[in-house]
Amino acid sequence: MTATGELFLARPRSVELGETHVTIEWSDGHRSVFSNRGLRESCPCALCQGEASPLVGSRALPMVPDVPAGVRASEYRMVGLYAIAFAWSDGHSTGIYPYDYLLARCECDACVAERPESLIESRE
Ligand SMILES: [Zn+2]
Ligand SMILES: [Zn+2]
Repeated sequence: MTATGELFLARPRSVELGETHVTIEWSDGHRSVFSNRGLRESCPCALCQGEASPLVGSRALPMVPDVPAGVRASEYRMVGLYAIAFAWSDGHSTGIYPYDYLLARCECDACVAERPESLIESRE
């Protein structure tokens, strides 16, 4: 019994880019499912999050970009040992999704059941 739980990060064992969902199987056996659109909309990059930036200037950025309905991840790449970067079919590819960010948004039945309602935004 060592207290290494906090330090251990599950790593993706496999990443599948499907027509409608991205499926990630983690090294601890957890299998995460994310809808392509939901994942694209929660892209953590500054552009998508609409953070005020002096470089963006007066351009008013919407909080959520206009994501096409059929958007899907076309490619992924591992970033260090902590994140996955996805390239999307709408041409966007600057989003880097840390593992814990992904896990917090996992849409598998077990995770959805555990999560307080308030964190679940309009699911379709
Ligand atoms: Zn983005
Ligand atoms: Zn899950």
